[in-house]
Amino acid sequence: MKLLTPELLDAFFATLSQRWELRLPILLPDGTRIIGSLIDGRLALHGGAVSGKPTAAFFPQQSTLLSVTDGTVEETPSPPPLFIVGFTPSDLASLRFIDRFFADGWRDDLYFTLRENAAIAALSGYCGLGGALIPLAGGDCDLEFFWDRSSWLVIAYSETGKKLIEDLPDAARTEVVELLRQTTPSLPDENETVIRAASLLLRADRVPDSFWAEIGDRCIACTGCNLACPTCTCFGVQDWRSANKTERSRMWDSCQLDGFMREAGGHNPLGSEAERTRRRIHHKLAADPQKWGEISCFLCGRCDAVCPTGIGILAVAGEIVARFA
Ligand code: SF4
Ligand code: SF4
Repeated sequence: MKLLTPELLDAFFATLSQRWELRLPILLPDGTRIIGSLIDGRLALHGGAVSGKPTAAFFPQQSTLLSVTDGTVEETPSPPPLFIVGFTPSDLASLRFIDRFFADGWRDDLYFTLRENAAIAALSGYCGLGGALIPLAGGDCDLEFFWDRSSWLVIAYSETGKKLIEDLPDAARTEVVELLRQTTPSLPDENETVIRAASLLLRADRVPDSFWAEIGDRCIACTGCNLACPTCTCFGVQDWRSANKTERSRMWDSCQLDGFMREAGGHNPLGSEAERTRRRIHHKLAADPQKWGEISCFLCGRCDAVCPTGIGILAVAGEIVARFA
């Protein structure tokens, strides 16, 4: 384990930037904290989960699939190697989930070209919102930065990670012992208990349609929940045309929009807000456990934070448990 003091941070990232394109938690001028480039805002490692979908580094809002100019298909340029900092343990669990999704059946080369060309660093320790403790991730990434309230203890989990930090000083034994003491497993998370209980009720078909009509009435279709969710992977395909060029892109879609499943003939299997809201929750808590063996919500908190009408997944799961358990 290595030690990275706040004084060494700038030099550390400057060295990495010679080989990698850096994506770090930054604070934008409007106060939003996202994973981005240092030219757009100042470094902000503290504050917990960043706004927005952290998995967008590999599944961007818009990706070009194909570009044709004057009848000739253009070569797709290779992406630069990315070094991405800012995943929480919950974000890493989401990433693990969508890695499996994009590899299933057909392997999504657009996703894996970016994914396999990147190194990922998690943030944990007392760097959560207001200094809250984020538990140690313990793997599923190349590096982990654990804030012990004065310095970052840096742990490497891969050969790439080990190389990246080989020049940093070693952490003292007392710091390692203290880290292990701080991250001793705690009691089960209360939110996880709620999500699991709601999942069981949905799978037992204990939630009536009238409930979804009530919750659906509260959705204003702003799509914030889908845009922020690290495990939402739905997309649509769009062609853009100019005089001599056609570009085919894939773009994020949202299951909360009326056109999400509408068919060319006019039939819409998700024709009401009630059905669309039911699908959003049911997909993560009932369909995915059936297909993948696990709930695909890792409780990052983003959909509950962004939903203007209070129907993020945890809020809805809480209502399900309170009314139907
Ligand atoms: S809390 Fe919401 S945004 Fe986060 S993983 Fe679960 S469903 Fe997605
Ligand atoms: S964030 Fe809330 S209001 Fe907006 S689409 Fe999602 S559920 Fe509906």
